[in-house]
Amino acid sequence: MMSTRRYLIAANWKMHKTLEEARALAREVRRGLTWGLKAEVALAPPFTALAAVAGELADSDLRLAGQDAFWERQGAYTGAISPMMLKDAGCHYVIIGHSERRQYFGETDHTVNRKLKAVLEVGLCPICCIGESLEEREKGQTLARVGQQLEVGLAEMGSLTGEQLVLAYEPVWAIGTGLTATPQQAQEVHAFIRSRLRELLHAAAEEVRILYGGSVTPDNAATLMAETDIDGALVGGASLKSASFLGIITAAG
Ligand code: PEP
Repeated sequence: MMSTRRYLIAANWKMHKTLEEARALAREVRRGLTWGLKAEVALAPPFTALAAVAGELADSDLRLAGQDAFWERQGAYTGAISPMMLKDAGCHYVIIGHSERRQYFGETDHTVNRKLKAVLEVGLCPICCIGESLEEREKGQTLARVGQQLEVGLAEMGSLTGEQLVLAYEPVWAIGTGLTATPQQAQEVHAFIRSRLRELLHAAAEEVRILYGGSVTPDNAATLMAETDIDGALVGGASLKSASFLGIITAAG
């Protein structure tokens, strides 16, 4: 079956950029995009810069994304941001379950599940991150770990269409380390994720985009995205400069 999946290249700026820097980078990315672009492009600035970046992206095809959301709608949750607040700020996507959230903020597969449900409820599209640690890979537990993250993370989700969900396979050992999974290593896991999605989401599995993340650069992006089940990239370090981020977008065709 011919897939209709459109590449998605998403920038995760993490805890970087003042307002002025964020505006400048968003402007540079917007100006650098060529007409008739095949890939969809999204920027995830820190919460403080969402409004400023939304202004820079107005009347363009570029999408705005949050880096996290809490599962409650509102209330006494100091420091938290709700899915509705992100929607209100102009977001289309929100990253959920990034390995840094799991590592530094105590997130688990269970909290990821709660967040995914809350995000879907307001009509935002989650970019749900999964991936194994170095220790799990070395012990041969990669597929078991990723399978568990999918099963618990996507539990009781009801029926979904392919546009409602994006997954990002991000081997933890490849994030910010300069170590990239080889295209074959990544494709093996992406194909496994797609096969599990077929069981969980049935026909929608063919339309769900599965991004690769972990030290993606303009040099390795094209070979990674040439793999059958790699539908784009979630980019950290290389998204902080317009030249390298635009290089990755160009690699998507
Ligand atoms: C990420 O944070 O999602 C990521 C993949 O980071 P980097 O590109 O820096 O490895």
